[in-house]
Amino acid sequence: MQVVVIGGGPSGAAAALTLLDAQIPVTIVERKPFPRFRPGETLHPGIEPLLARLGVTHQLESAGYVRHSGVWSGWGGAMQFVPYGADTNGPWRGYQAIRADFDQRLLDSARSRGAQILAGKVSGIVFNASNEVAGVMTSEGPVAATYVIDCSGGAHTLARQLRIPIVRHSPQLVARFGYVTGCFDDPSPSIYSDQDGWTWVAEVEPNRFQWTRVTEALNRPDLTWIPHGLRDLEAEPSRSADVTWRMAEAVAGPGYFLTGDAAAVLDPSSSHGVLRAIMSGMMAAHLVARHLCDGADAQVCALTYQNWLSSWFRHDVEEMSRAYRAANLFGFAS
Ligand SMILES: Cc1cc2nc3c(=O)[nH]c(=O)nc-3n(C[C@H](O)[C@H](O)[C@H](O)COP(=O)(O)OP(=O)(O)OC[C@H]3O[C@@H](n4cnc5c(N)ncnc54)[C@H](O)[C@@H]3O)c2cc1C
Repeated sequence: MQVVVIGGGPSGAAAALTLLDAQIPVTIVERKPFPRFRPGETLHPGIEPLLARLGVTHQLESAGYVRHSGVWSGWGGAMQFVPYGADTNGPWRGYQAIRADFDQRLLDSARSRGAQILAGKVSGIVFNASNEVAGVMTSEGPVAATYVIDCSGGAHTLARQLRIPIVRHSPQLVARFGYVTGCFDDPSPSIYSDQDGWTWVAEVEPNRFQWTRVTEALNRPDLTWIPHGLRDLEAEPSRSADVTWRMAEAVAGPGYFLTGDAAAVLDPSSSHGVLRAIMSGMMAAHLVARHLCDGADAQVCALTYQNWLSSWFRHDVEEMSRAYRAANLFGFAS
C-alpha cells in the first residue's frame, strides 16, 4: 500500500503529513528543486490551527515571518482597516510567509517523518485492469500506487490526463505581480479596487513589497506597470498568472483525489489559496485513510470529498461575486 502525491507545494505536504500520521507510506513526486519560487505570501490566520494539527507550528514560529492582524481595504470606497477578528487570546494574526521558505519547511517536515521525495515530472497515469487510477508515469519511470492525490497546482495534471473538464466560473482573469525593495510608508497589506480591477500591496519582508494587479485579460497592464506609490522603488521583473475562477468537474474518483489549485482556483483577492490547499490536502488524505485503514466505502469517501469541496467553492464564488458586484467589476454588475 502506498499513496503517490503529485507536487510538493502546501497541499502536497499537508496530504503527505496527514497520510504519514495514519502510517500510510507516501511518495511525493516533485518536478522542481526546492526551494522554488511561488507567489502568495499572505496567509490567512485560519491556517494556524491547521499547521498545529499537522505538527509544524514550531518550524513556522522559528521562521520569524512578519505577522499582521487585518487588511487595509479601499474596496469601492475610502481606505479602512478590516481586522481578521479576535478571541480571548487576542487578535487573530496572519503570516507574511516567503513561500519558497514556507513550502520548503512543510516539505522538509514531510520528508523527516518518512515521505519519499522523488525528483521528477509526472507525465501520465497508470491504470489497473478495472480502469482505476493505479499509479503515475514519471520522468524517472512508473510508480505504482493504491491512490494518487494530485497536488500539482494550476497545471491540473491529473484532470488533464483523465480528461476531466475544468469548468470556468468567471471571465478570464489575469494577475500581474512583482516585487519592489525600498521605503514605502503606506499601510499594508492593502487592497483597493478601481474601474478596471484591483491592486494589492503587502510588505512580505522588511522593506520588500509584493504587489498584485488583477484585471480581465483584455485590460491586463503592460510589463512595466507598477502600482503608483511603488514606482520609485527598486523593481524586479513582473510575471503573470491565470487566476480565472475554475474547478474540475470531478475532484475525486476511483483511485484519485484532486486538491489545492489542482482541484479549484479562485483569484487571490481573499488570500485563501494556501488555506484551501492545506485544508483540501488534509481532507483528501483523511478520506484515503478512512478507506484504506478503516474500511470505509471508497465511493462514499469520493462523494463526501466532492460535496465538501464543491460547497466550499460555491460559497466562495457567491461571496466573491457579491464583492465584485458591489465594486461593479468584471461584469458582475447587478
Ligand atoms: C499572484 C498570486 C498571488 C497569490 N496570493 C496569495 C496569497 O496572498 N495568499 C494565499 O493564500 N494564496 C495566494 N495565491 C494562491 C496560492 O499561491 C495557491 O493557491 C497555492 O500555491 C496552491 O498550493 P498548491 O499546493 O495547490 O499548489 P502549488 O503551490 O502550485 O504547488 C504545486 C507543486 O506541484 C509541482 N508540479 C506541478 N506539476 C507537476 C508534475 N507534472 N509533476 C511533478 N510535480 C509537479 C510544482 O512544481 C509545485 O511545486 C496567489 C496566487 C497568485 C497567482
